[in-house]
Amino acid sequence: MASWMSQIEKLIAPAVRASKVTQAVQIDRGVIGNTGPLAAGLTPHRRAVLFADSAGFAAAGAPVRDGLTNAGFHVETQVLPADPLPEAAVEQAIPFVQTLTADPDAFPVSVGSGVINDLVKYAAFRTDRRYLSVATAASMDGYTSAGAPLAEGGFKVTIPARAPIALIADLDVIAKAPREMTGWGYGDLAGKSPAGGDWILADLVGAEAIDDRAWPLVQDNLHGWLADPQHLMARDFDAMARLFIGLTAVGFAMEFHATSRPASGADHQIAHMWEMEGLRHGGRKVSHGAAVAVGTTVTLGLFDWLLAQDLTRLDVDQLTHTFPDLATQQAKVDEVIDHPQIAARAKVETAAKWVDRDVLKTRLTRVKRDWPRVQNRLRRHLFRQDTMIDMLRQAGAPTAPDDIGVSASHMMRTVRTAAFIRSRYTVLDFLKEVGLFDQAVAHVVGRLTAAPVNGAAE
Ligand SMILES: [Zn+2]
Repeated sequence: MASWMSQIEKLIAPAVRASKVTQAVQIDRGVIGNTGPLAAGLTPHRRAVLFADSAGFAAAGAPVRDGLTNAGFHVETQVLPADPLPEAAVEQAIPFVQTLTADPDAFPVSVGSGVINDLVKYAAFRTDRRYLSVATAASMDGYTSAGAPLAEGGFKVTIPARAPIALIADLDVIAKAPREMTGWGYGDLAGKSPAGGDWILADLVGAEAIDDRAWPLVQDNLHGWLADPQHLMARDFDAMARLFIGLTAVGFAMEFHATSRPASGADHQIAHMWEMEGLRHGGRKVSHGAAVAVGTTVTLGLFDWLLAQDLTRLDVDQLTHTFPDLATQQAKVDEVIDHPQIAARAKVETAAKWVDRDVLKTRLTRVKRDWPRVQNRLRRHLFRQDTMIDMLRQAGAPTAPDDIGVSASHMMRTVRTAAFIRSRYTVLDFLKEVGLFDQAVAHVVGRLTAAPVNGAAE
């Protein structure tokens, strides 16, 4: 097995050199002690604001604050409560924006994981500031990405922002994070398998070509990063390092591709639906990674089903003739999305990827001709749904809709709605274009949400 140290040299270091934004990434045991000197080299000023939620502060706040103080910084801290968890919403970042606006020399330092990092990223960008991120969990892939996935007026979007100027990931801190957070990160990374499948399909139909930089950075290494979920549960440093390197590389892939395509497909569209709905389970908000883990399971099921079909026998003329026009598609949006603002936005996204019958005919002709080749490529690329379910379980991530409080009818509604909320072309769009969406969804969702026979317990 390739050591993670060599991946830092071969993948992360070149990515940092190529990054237009991030100048330093330190992933190792004990590196939290480098925060002060690193920050001192990144800003001429000696004022810092440490942003955290109370969980992040408990994990790493004191050593970061002390390190900054010892490096000559005057440190202000702004700590949000961790319970309830801060919302991933622009509105929640406003106090951070105000703090930074009030002190133009202050250097923002984020101490925490997903939401805190995104809020600080957004606030730093809004105030034209660079920021340093201290990661406290391997819980998502957004540390090194430019976008801040936040809700704005209730609609989840990836808001253009700027990646941190530096990232510190101390494995001693990250290994102590709650195990479920590691499971979320594993789920977020697992989503790159179906997201890659979506990209292969988008490439096939000419919706979006695969690139030669972001694709290999993520997809050539994905199987290795996901290889030992059982060691993550044991808080093994090497497994933790590999997961964190994977999540970090994905962030760079998004920077280099300038969109979240390398990281996010139908699995994320499904997750975003639940995030927009404010899905709660067991009295708490369902995390991004948990939602993606279930979205990944569903999406891989759709791919498994699709791969069993023979698309060389498509009736292109018939499919082209019966494909719904844009007005019909947009009427469908109103039918499946209640929230008026979300529906309005979804119509814009749906219009952006709608194609006329001439384009559809070209696409379907290509699918029919190239299916055996693409089918093989997808088979080599994708994890089977059952394999992924085993791996996710070993990593402590949820796999079934029921695990996160999503009922069978809710799951069905989500899959039917998800494709409308993003213009990105995925397996959901592909299945609609080849006329197999309803069949595929009925099969896959039915299987995932079926009640145990005779009430038998597992
Ligand atoms: Zn994600």
